[in-house]
Amino acid sequence: MTSMGRTALKIPLTPFDKGRDKKLIGGKPMKRLLKLAGIAILLAGLLLIAALLFIRSYLQDEQVQQTQALVPSTLPQSAMFIFPHPDDEITVAGTMSKLASQGVETTLICLTKGEQGATGGLVEAARLAEARATELKEAAAILQVDHLEILDFPDGKIAEVDSDLIKGVIQRLILKYRPSVVVTYDNRIGFYGHPDHRLTGQYVYEVVEENSNGTDFPVKRVYFVTLSAGMIAAAMKISPTFQQRYPEEPQRGLPAPDLAVDITAQGAAKRAAMLAHQTQWRIFAELQPLYDVLPGWIYYRVFDREYYALALNNEP
Ligand SMILES: [Zn+2]
Repeated sequence: MTSMGRTALKIPLTPFDKGRDKKLIGGKPMKRLLKLAGIAILLAGLLLIAALLFIRSYLQDEQVQQTQALVPSTLPQSAMFIFPHPDDEITVAGTMSKLASQGVETTLICLTKGEQGATGGLVEAARLAEARATELKEAAAILQVDHLEILDFPDGKIAEVDSDLIKGVIQRLILKYRPSVVVTYDNRIGFYGHPDHRLTGQYVYEVVEENSNGTDFPVKRVYFVTLSAGMIAAAMKISPTFQQRYPEEPQRGLPAPDLAVDITAQGAAKRAAMLAHQTQWRIFAELQPLYDVLPGWIYYRVFDREYYALALNNEP
């Protein structure tokens, strides 16, 4: 370009043009804006972390002893989880996935097909049993469960079944898979007051207790699934189910936890297992709000523990 051409093109800039010109070539205002945006993002990030840590400190109980091994190394490495409904296993999903990663053989027993549960607007009520059994198989595969048994006791009516019949089935399954540790719902409130839950815990407890002197009986420990005091308080604030069914008096509620399992690394698996129970989205949204919205790596920094009460210990 000649000096003539440059002179000819030199048109005075308006104040607006000057500003735009500076922005386009990365002038000071643009840098300042980027800097402010950076600070704002950093502050928002710090605020989010502070909020998560605050919620976590409210929910989790650091006083409860943490364990890396729900099945002690001194016992045969096999654990059985016994629940009445498809999706109940979500309460222990992180632990199941962790045990599988540790090489522990895991067995999941589900006493019913959950045919009385919510359809989530996704299937006809008549086809719910089939749909929920399929969902449970998918969840069990995600959690790397070695053996899954889905039985056909009537959902919501465990109380109407002869107790000896159910206990006999539980005993046979224990002798078939030979777990050293069994995990189930508590026999006091059944997690939040569901009769099927409470009776399942009661029958499992009784089967193990009644066989505790048998030399061939494999179970040494029974754990009840439980929650921290902060989690119960939060559930009473947000969950209509807890509000309707959970007792006011703490001594009638869930047993105090003896152990906590850190499930931070199993967050993705737990979330995927929850999503497998497609028909149950309303229940999860109530008990685990935002589980399907927040990324797993954030969510399981807050919900990073599963709690257990040691109900029976028959170790020598
Ligand atoms: Zn249930």
